[in-house]
Amino acid sequence: MPYHDEMNATSDVIIAGGGVAGMSTAFFLAHAGLQTTILERNTPGMESSWAGGGILAPLLPWHYSQAVLEMCHRGAQMYPAWAETLHASGGIDPEYWPCGMHVLPTDRMTPENPTSNATAYPLFNGIPDANNHSLWMPNVAQVRNPRLVKSLRKTMDALNIRVLEHCGDTTLHVSKNHVSHIQSQHGKHVGAHYLVASGAWSQHMLADMPPAKTISPVRGQMLLFQAEPGLLPHILYQDGVYLIPRRDGHIVVGSTVESVGFDKSTTESARQHLYARAVQLLPELGNLAIIQQWSGLRPGAPDNIPTVARHPDIDNLFVNAGHFRYGVTMAPSSAKLLTDLLLHRTPDIDPLPYAWW
Ligand SMILES: Cc1cc2nc3c(=O)[nH]c(=O)nc-3n(C[C@H](O)[C@H](O)[C@H](O)COP(=O)(O)OP(=O)(O)OC[C@H]3O[C@@H](n4cnc5c(N)ncnc54)[C@H](O)[C@@H]3O)c2cc1C
Repeated sequence: MPYHDEMNATSDVIIAGGGVAGMSTAFFLAHAGLQTTILERNTPGMESSWAGGGILAPLLPWHYSQAVLEMCHRGAQMYPAWAETLHASGGIDPEYWPCGMHVLPTDRMTPENPTSNATAYPLFNGIPDANNHSLWMPNVAQVRNPRLVKSLRKTMDALNIRVLEHCGDTTLHVSKNHVSHIQSQHGKHVGAHYLVASGAWSQHMLADMPPAKTISPVRGQMLLFQAEPGLLPHILYQDGVYLIPRRDGHIVVGSTVESVGFDKSTTESARQHLYARAVQLLPELGNLAIIQQWSGLRPGAPDNIPTVARHPDIDNLFVNAGHFRYGVTMAPSSAKLLTDLLLHRTPDIDPLPYAWW
């Protein structure tokens, strides 16, 4: 049966949202031989996926449940090879860098979550200092978000994945437990399967499709400094604030965690707070100017557990959203899980924690 849109292109899967979740899923679907179309409201990769820090770990792993750790760990394990593949296919290096993370003492250094089994995940294990205060996590890696999304976007072209930009807010049309089409500014798009990967906006798309999913925007503000390369050799974290060095000397400082709706503005109070904490952590930053401040809207979800699933009643509808603070880390693992579910393959991760209920 041919699936087409008004431009007469055929698609096995139509994805609403061109962030890291949408583009990663398109990558794995394409490698499984499926023809995929991405419909992006604006420009691919310019929302949360651009704004994030790119740390490939759940900051302090003992804060999280096994569902978060498992998806993050699988993702982090996949990154070295995946980043190389993206670089080779799209020509842009996402700057994967296993630089390690130093966690400085805080009053919250001890495991708080009794259900967490963080030590079972070797990439996130830390080596305590002699006083058992600070922690060196040698296996924590990073990617550079703007490069990652550019690299993914180029890879979409290399894999012949159709990307339609500036589609406006696309909407799903459902009849008799089946999505009939998705409507965009460019027209009507008909496919065999539909995937909602619209980040913080996913709940808008799914509003009329119970059971309801709670995915809400959580703003994060960041600052950027330009230092000499090598000033900071690894990620530095203390009590909710991190400094991330890039290879060329840029240092990203983050981040706030604010529930202010779909408001992406930046604030003077966040600038002052992050600046003060950054200088406390690395006094040399006091001699440098802030060169940029920005914010992004994370797709917040309860307990940071994303939904990566088939809809329980609507037979051709899927979601890959709600990755909250770790959507970059989880990108390849959740995209691989979604692909396995769509193709009825046995997933290599237990899908139940990420199901649609
Ligand atoms: C400040 C900050 C720091 C972060 N740090 C890290 C980190 O260090 N490590 C980590 O792993 N994660 C981090 N994250 C989280 C991570 O960036 C997100 O979880 C991830 O980017 C979510 O990807 P996404 O594709 O679901 O969403 P997005 O990147 O927001 O993409 C969703 C896309 O859908 C589009 N869209 C919306 N509605 C529609 C519609 N109706 N139709 C079509 N398109 C639509 C949007 O325009 C957007 O392009 C951070 C996030 C922020 C904001």
